Amino acid sequence: MEGARIARVQLNRPDLRFPLPERFAERLAGQRILSLGRRAKYITLDTENGPALICHLGMSGSFRIESDGDDATPGRFHHPRSRASGHDHVVFHLEDSPAGAARIVFNDPRRFGFMLFADGAAASHPMLAGLGVEPTGNALDGPTLSRLFAGKRAPLKAALLDQGLIAGLGNIYVSEALWQAGLSPKREAGTLAAGRGHAARAGRLADSIRDVIRQAIAAGGSSLRDYVHADGSLGYFQHTFRVYDREGKPCPRPGCGGHVKRIVQSGRSTFFCPACQR
Ligand SMILES: [Zn+2]
Repeated sequence: MEGARIARVQLNRPDLRFPLPERFAERLAGQRILSLGRRAKYITLDTENGPALICHLGMSGSFRIESDGDDATPGRFHHPRSRASGHDHVVFHLEDSPAGAARIVFNDPRRFGFMLFADGAAASHPMLAGLGVEPTGNALDGPTLSRLFAGKRAPLKAALLDQGLIAGLGNIYVSEALWQAGLSPKREAGTLAAGRGHAARAGRLADSIRDVIRQAIAAGGSSLRDYVHADGSLGYFQHTFRVYDREGKPCPRPGCGGHVKRIVQSGRSTFFCPACQR
């Protein structure tokens, strides 16, 4: 998409989760795409002279790439469900792309996804400006976690879900990363910045966060159970959960012998092993 021009935008309905921005198709038509990026769970697209576009996939949204003479979607993350064209809501018709003429199709059966405009660069939008460090970027390491959590009395689980500290880390991956690091979700976040062994704890947690996300991406992501039942073709990371959604099951850590417990923190379920997560 980078370098291509948006010849026209086809809207098959006026809204997704929210109404699409006013004059959506008109303001994007003719614009050259400068860059395509991601920040937390938002896909960002900056244009040469028009508005920047910010997209969120919601629960079931996906983009499909079609080019003339070859309508196969490239890459490893193609979900067959996006072929149901009844759920194609927005189509970007591109020209001058490296692949020639191409169509970028937004498909979303549940319509929890959304698109909005930013004036200026996407990164300057208020929704993105306050976001914390990227969990997969080079900035996340032990010393960064120590700095972010210094003096925080909140439980580790809550601090990890705070999008102003670390952006885009969700409930599932936080439970999994804490298990991998052997740290209790109830531990005070500040203990990663002070006290004996704090640097080792922070380093272990940073490594675990990166590792859990890397594994999830390799597996094609995870998805909510009810959605998998409705369709059967989303990601498969859920088959490798160590603690999430495994209440009462044996802890998979060799030699542990504990059982997974579920507690509620800040209104969300936390799964952990009280025997080996301290
Ligand atoms: Zn355990």
